[in-house]
Amino acid sequence: AKASLTQDVCFYEADMDQAVRARRRVTQALREALENERFELHYQVQASVSTGKATGYEVLLRWKDHDGRYISPADFIPVAEENGLILPIGEWVLRQACRQAAAWAEPHRIAVNLSPVQLSHVDLPRLVHQILLETGLAPSRLELEITETAMITDMERTTHVLRQLKALGVSIAMDDFGTGYSSLSTLKAFPFDKIKLDRSFMTELDGEAPQSRAIIRAVLTIGESLSIPVLAEGVETAEQLAFLRAQGCNEVQGYLLGRPQPEADALLNGVVRIAA
Ligand code: C2E
Ligand code: CA
Ligand code: CA
Ligand code: CA
Repeated sequence: AKASLTQDVCFYEADMDQAVRARRRVTQALREALENERFELHYQVQASVSTGKATGYEVLLRWKDHDGRYISPADFIPVAEENGLILPIGEWVLRQACRQAAAWAEPHRIAVNLSPVQLSHVDLPRLVHQILLETGLAPSRLELEITETAMITDMERTTHVLRQLKALGVSIAMDDFGTGYSSLSTLKAFPFDKIKLDRSFMTELDGEAPQSRAIIRAVLTIGESLSIPVLAEGVETAEQLAFLRAQGCNEVQGYLLGRPQPEADALLNGVVRIAA
C-alpha cells in the first residue's frame, strides 16, 4: 500500500508539472495572439419573442489558431483571468465591438461580456466612457453582461461600479441567471436591465422532468414582478420557443435563431423567422 501511495504522489506531481507547463504555454500563446491580432469577434442575434425582430447581438470572442481553427473562449478565458491578460483582451473586445457596431447601418444594440476580473481591477467606468467617446457609439446601444460571480466577490464595490456604468447610459444584464447560489439576492442588490436565463434550463426542458418548466415559469414571474425583461439563452428547438412564448418570455437567443457568426454574416441573417 505504501509503494502505491508513493507512486500516486509521483504521478500527481508529474500531472501538476504538466498542468503548470500547459498553462505557461497558453499564456505565451495568448500574449502572442493579442500582439498579432489573432482574436475575432463573432455576433449572435437576440430577438423579441413577440415581434421576431432582432433586438441586439451578443459579442463572443474567438481565438483563431495558426491552422485557422477557432479556439473556444471557455478554454482560454479562465487562463486569461488567472494571468491577468483578460484586462488587455477585454479592453480590445470592448473597443473593437463598439467600433464595429458604430459603423453598422442599423443601430442594433450589442451585448459585451465582462469578466469579474475586469470589474474589480480597472477603472472600468472611465475606460467604457473613453471607448464610447472614441468610437462614437451611443451609450444606449451598449449592454454589459455580468455574472453572479462578479457580484458575490465584492458586492458593495461591484454595485458601485455598476451604478457608475449605468450613469453613462449603458445597460447591465445579469448573465447565466439561475446557475449560482445567490441569484435572487443579486437581483435585490442592483437594478439589472435584463435577466439572461441560463442555457441549462433549456436543455433540461426537453426531458420529462417538470422541474425546469417550473423554474422557468418562476423566473419569468420574478422578471415580471420586478419589471425586468427576461431573455432565454440556448433556444435550439421550436418546441422550446413555443413554451417560452406561452409563458410570456420577452427575448430569445440560441441556435434556432442563429449561431454566433462573423460580423457580416450575422448582420445578413438578422431577420429572424420566429413571429407567431
Ligand atoms: P456565455 O456568455 O453564456 O455565452 C453564451 C454561450 O452559449 C456562447 O458560447 C454561445 O456560442 C453558446 N450558445 C449560444 N446559443 C447556443 C445554443 O443554442 N446551444 C448551445 N449549445 N450553445 C449556445 P461561447 O461563444 O463558446 O462562449 C463561452 C463563454 O465564454 C461565454 O458564455 C462567456 O462566459 C465567455 N466569453 C465569450 N466571449 C467573451 C468575452 O469577450 N469576454 C469574456 N469575459 N468572456 C467571454
Ligand atoms: Ca454572455
Ligand atoms: Ca450566458
Ligand atoms: Ca456561461
